[in-house]
Amino acid sequence: MALIVQKYGGTSVGSVERIQCVAEKIAGFRDQGHDVVVVVSAMSGETNRLVALAKAIAPQPDAREYDVLLSTGEQVTIALLAMALKQRGYPARSFTGSQVRILTDSAHNKARIKDIDRQNMDDALSAGQVVVVAGFQGVDENGSITTLGRGGSDTTAVALAAALDADECQIYTDVDGVYTTDPRVVPEARRLDRITFEEMLEMASLGSKVLQIRAVEFAGKYNVPLRVLSSFEEGGGTLISYEEEGMEQALISGIAFNRDEAKLTVLGVPDHPGVASQILGPIGEANIEVDMIIQNVAADGNTDFTFTIHRNDYEKARAVLERVADELGAREVVGDNKIVKISLVGVGMRSHAGIAGQMFELLAREGINIRMISTSEIKVSVVVDEKYLELGVRALHSGFALEQAIEITD
Ligand code: ASP
Ligand code: MG
Repeated sequence: MALIVQKYGGTSVGSVERIQCVAEKIAGFRDQGHDVVVVVSAMSGETNRLVALAKAIAPQPDAREYDVLLSTGEQVTIALLAMALKQRGYPARSFTGSQVRILTDSAHNKARIKDIDRQNMDDALSAGQVVVVAGFQGVDENGSITTLGRGGSDTTAVALAAALDADECQIYTDVDGVYTTDPRVVPEARRLDRITFEEMLEMASLGSKVLQIRAVEFAGKYNVPLRVLSSFEEGGGTLISYEEEGMEQALISGIAFNRDEAKLTVLGVPDHPGVASQILGPIGEANIEVDMIIQNVAADGNTDFTFTIHRNDYEKARAVLERVADELGAREVVGDNKIVKISLVGVGMRSHAGIAGQMFELLAREGINIRMISTSEIKVSVVVDEKYLELGVRALHSGFALEQAIEITD
């Protein structure tokens, strides 16, 4: 008998029929004697619908009210799932984020979890109930509803698993695991049986969309065994864990990409100490996350400073930068919000040189111009024009033969 935290994403609860299937599945786990805590997303398309409503009222909707609105999607699902379980004779109880008491900071739309009170969940579990929790939401110290950022239900699930010291955290979704890349872009993409936390972090942060990055961070930090699997098909899915000594490592585990990138450049910035922080400080204060940062060597005492951000933050960041550029006496702010990022990820790269060179050559052969490059121990990323995304990912996937499982040589 185990305590399992399960998370069902939007498509897994996308209709009444699917919610019935999820209830069936949970009933099966209860019959085996397991305690089950279930986290659900909003029904598929619902969060987008709510976002569209807000945007129809105001281009930059009030952050607090936006969270009140967005959190309703998950509230619908917890109620329906709890009803479906009770209908089958399985005691269940739904909880919103604030009813559990998932305490977060007050950064609306991208709040961070500070504390989880396990008492209410423990009480329900001891009473033999299935605990059904709304994903993606919490409450701050003032009692305001907060949301954790798009895809935040994964984080809720992992955080609950950590708080409850669960035996496993299972993320049920519409794919049967983590793939070498998005199979919608590369049909030959292959499911990975396992992947390390580090690689998964890179894959998630680079937009592979399978799991929210914060969820993976949380799972790694608290060593929560995390498994991604399909809610529609049988199968073991992909296990995300720490690297094991002596395990055969693929050179490259996958290719991640992110369509929602934008870049901004401040041209003609005076080259003296403090400039980088004067540019990025106000960006950080505006709660805008910066990804790649590039500053060129200075010629004539001036330099150019470029960084990438999420496309949604483009207008806001540009406004901040115009102000900063004025203060700094910089020449101009230019930007492009039609760019994408493609990355090769693999812990095996640590011990192999030359991967970046091979990557650039494969892209050059397709005539793809690289706009920015950044590297870390286990990844190489390039920024290219949006129109080259599919071509670039396919060229790299076949160029590095990722459709083939690694062969044990030596
Ligand atoms: N419903 C939210 C979203 O669509 C949270 C989630 O599904 O994880 O982003
Ligand atoms: Mg999701």
